[in-house]
Amino acid sequence: MRLSRYFLPVLKENPADAKIASHQLMLRAGMIRQSAAGIYSWLPLGFKVLRMLENIVHEEQQRAGHIPMLMPTLQTADLWRESGRYEDYGEEMLRIKDRHGRDLLYGPTNEELITDIFRNSVNSYKELPLTLYHIQWKFRDEVRPRFGVMRGREFFMKDGYNFDLDEAGALHAYNRHLVSYLRTYERMGLKALPMRADTGPIGGDHSHEFLVLAETGESEVFYDSAVSELSLGERKIDFDDVAQCQGIFDEFTTPYARTDETHDAALFAKVPAERQRSARGIEVGQIFYFGTKYSDAMNARVSSPDGKPVPVHMGSHGIGVSRLIGALIEANHDERGIIWPEAVAPFRVGIVNLKQGGAETDAVCEQLYNGLQRGGLEPLYDDRETRAGAKFATMDLIGCPWRITVGPRGLKNGMVELTCRRSGESEEMSPEAALDRCAQIYREV
Ligand code: ATP
Ligand code: MG
Repeated sequence: MRLSRYFLPVLKENPADAKIASHQLMLRAGMIRQSAAGIYSWLPLGFKVLRMLENIVHEEQQRAGHIPMLMPTLQTADLWRESGRYEDYGEEMLRIKDRHGRDLLYGPTNEELITDIFRNSVNSYKELPLTLYHIQWKFRDEVRPRFGVMRGREFFMKDGYNFDLDEAGALHAYNRHLVSYLRTYERMGLKALPMRADTGPIGGDHSHEFLVLAETGESEVFYDSAVSELSLGERKIDFDDVAQCQGIFDEFTTPYARTDETHDAALFAKVPAERQRSARGIEVGQIFYFGTKYSDAMNARVSSPDGKPVPVHMGSHGIGVSRLIGALIEANHDERGIIWPEAVAPFRVGIVNLKQGGAETDAVCEQLYNGLQRGGLEPLYDDRETRAGAKFATMDLIGCPWRITVGPRGLKNGMVELTCRRSGESEEMSPEAALDRCAQIYREV
């Protein structure tokens, strides 16, 4: 992309109403604009990151064997009356009437709708196990929308639902989700710790939340530092392997890690003192096993191997895709702006031309631009006729992980400069070497 043809309305000043770094930076970097309290337009740069995260979530869900689909944002109230949640959900639910006076709602989650789809189409245990998911906008009329996309009213969420014949099957689905979520966050360059959690209005027996540690997080958490040292890394995972998924579940959930809602001071005291941590965290995902809560209420049954109809065992599993952008920025920024992990950078390499209109500098920038594009490393070329300082400030603000600077002085010796946003280190090299280096960096991501 050439910046002169893009739409990147950056702001010089910190917007007064934005209290935390991620909210300020998303506004300043021209990623979002507020449309109403807790409701945002996603400008091109923000939309690009949202799509990248969505793609990673899709890939990892499908790798785990989960099947994508799409349910609508608007749902009929009747289904929620069946489960009893139409009244229970309270003021967070946005209720709407259509022209015929029928009650609709903007879905805050989809247990009822997916259970209805399931019960109308699946009759036999032979069609199980089944996990369906979608990534769709949700609406919750939060009391206090704040911190930008972190606690919006309208937000983008992956929600998945497993259907299994029995508790053992559903617990494997639960473990499989935990493992696939760990992979998802790791791929984004994020450390998200699984912690035992409360089940809240979804209901049920088992739940874990995934938390990104950040001072601005809304949750108070207590954990054994051993859990923060774990990672999946390169290990090969067979998501149908019940023992392997259970093993990873045990590995990641045995060290003490809980949110304030389930915190047990006596248990925590048994963690060696030097490993006890209390901190704040951002909830970026949650998984639930709730047995037959919805299948009982909504009569979702299948015939079991002995011919008897039995209610299916279910769980639901969510990732806050739009909130993740806020969490990523909270975990990756400095006073100059965002520092995207390579895997989620909206533009992988920035090109800064220090002498726009100079025959030599323009030619080398074009060579780099075309070479990066050919290599699949979408560059952002700042081809505007502005001063160097403003160009550097923009690249730093929007967080390009790597920047190539092309100026007349360096070119006298055939050199351009490659700069790492995170370390701030620069190195002089030929344009060809810079292209090779960028290709190598992104091959490893
Ligand atoms: P919270 O406790 O933060 O209100 P929740 O537990 O009610 O969230 P879930 O039902 O678990 O939310 O939804 C799944 C995920 O969706 C959450 O882990 C979170 O990442 C995201 N999410 C929930 N509410 C919001 C919101 N208002 N704005 C942005 N993301 C949200
Ligand atoms: Mg939650």
